[in-house]
Amino acid sequence: MTARRYRRDGGVVTFDAELCRHAAECVNGLPQVFDTAKRPWIQPENASIDELATVISRCPSGALHLETDDGRRYGL
Ligand code: SF4
Repeated sequence: MTARRYRRDGGVVTFDAELCRHAAECVNGLPQVFDTAKRPWIQPENASIDELATVISRCPSGALHLETDDGRRYGL
């Protein structure tokens, strides 16, 4: 697994580029967080944990996950 980690208050977003199928659920769902024109391209502090959970749950490939500091996990 080659996932990169993006920490914010309350949780960590991970992204594995090898699994991403470019379905764009992430960039369409939360463009202020997932923006391929920015570095880093994932800026999880730009949305709430609940918003992140909703959109990351829609990722169809298993490339995105969210693990909250209180033990919840989202993503395939
Ligand atoms: S929703 Fe998942 S599969 Fe689609 S572009 Fe985002 S990370 Fe990749």
